[in-house]
Amino acid sequence: MYNQKMRKLGDEKSDIRELFEYGNARKKVVGNENVFDFSIGNPGVPAPKCVQEEVERLLRETPAVALHGYSSAPGLSEVRAAVSNYIKSAFGAEMRPDLIYMTCGAAASLTITLSAILNEGDEVVTLAPFFPEYRVFVEQAGGKLVVAPTDEKFHLDAEKLKPYLGKRTKAVLLNSPNNPTGAVYTEEEIKSLTALLKEKSEEKGEPILLLADEPYRELTYGANVPYVMNFYDHSVVLYSFSKSLSLAGERIGYIAVSPKCEGAEDLFSAICGAGRALGYVCAPVLFQRVVANCLGKSSDVGEYKKNRDILYNALTEYGYECISPEGAFYLFVKALEPEAKKFCERAKKHELLLVPSDSFGVTGYVRISYCVERSVIERSLPAFRALIKEYR
Ligand code: PLP
Repeated sequence: MYNQKMRKLGDEKSDIRELFEYGNARKKVVGNENVFDFSIGNPGVPAPKCVQEEVERLLRETPAVALHGYSSAPGLSEVRAAVSNYIKSAFGAEMRPDLIYMTCGAAASLTITLSAILNEGDEVVTLAPFFPEYRVFVEQAGGKLVVAPTDEKFHLDAEKLKPYLGKRTKAVLLNSPNNPTGAVYTEEEIKSLTALLKEKSEEKGEPILLLADEPYRELTYGANVPYVMNFYDHSVVLYSFSKSLSLAGERIGYIAVSPKCEGAEDLFSAICGAGRALGYVCAPVLFQRVVANCLGKSSDVGEYKKNRDILYNALTEYGYECISPEGAFYLFVKALEPEAKKFCERAKKHELLLVPSDSFGVTGYVRISYCVERSVIERSLPAFRALIKEYR
């Protein structure tokens, strides 16, 4: 009767969301302070001051009708101009306001772009481990998600990726800083990827697109995040302010198409068409205005770094295996038994809510979102210690 594909998606839920709901229910039973909820990537550091100042200023100074009314489908022209100027000045990349589409966060940036580029049977190649919703988004747009491995440190390795690119490859989808590993791909790695893309595009007879999903761009601990447009013409950046400005609930981001992309204007028209077909026109207008005046700012990354250091140092001291994240706010830890799901069930007995890696496209790991209050991390440490003791 109803659409069975959607019904299945609704029933399945994501491992992350399910655990998040479990955590909320569990907190009601044993108390907030006794549950160590590392399930979801909800930023735990407040938005920078400029956000509140802008909201207050806009409420004070802008007539309500203009403030809350529709914008053009791809966004307010002055906001698109501000984003374009920012990309030019911050990254030295070519950009034009007419190639910026304001969206409801990275999820919308992804679904719009994938719908705009994919025809039935086209393949999108991504690197494991990857954000689980990629599979949902690619398949909903009629494509097939192809998953390529990374190296032993979860970094991009063009040689490993090569066999996965072929005649059906429409795009490579990258996420750096990475969810769930915290890896930040180096300039060298991006250069080897783009050399491969050029070679494979020639073989295919049309450019393979490079999609950079960058909600964590500003959240790094010293690593440089290369701007893909400076290395490859056929690039599209999918951006979100959810994490950088701690605005996950406000649903605001953008798509930026490189002017050097083959048929950039046609691609942008397809993006507008996809935005229309998906009902993603006119991203939240108040927050379009807010972010236009907070470009390049971020929440206090130092707070995430402190969380990272406390957790990484303690866990490695107890005997857990993990790599210190270079960015984002996730720690990817080797499970203490082959099946991550079983390990997570045992962790739950210590009120530790960890996400098993299976839906990220690799087995035997768990993801810890450390974007929580410091006290949660500190109080969770005895539980982590007790958990590893059970395995000895
Ligand atoms: N892409 C990645 C890699 C993410 O980690 C997330 C959210 O966690 C998203 C996209 C979706 O972000 P948004 O909340 O801006 O839609």
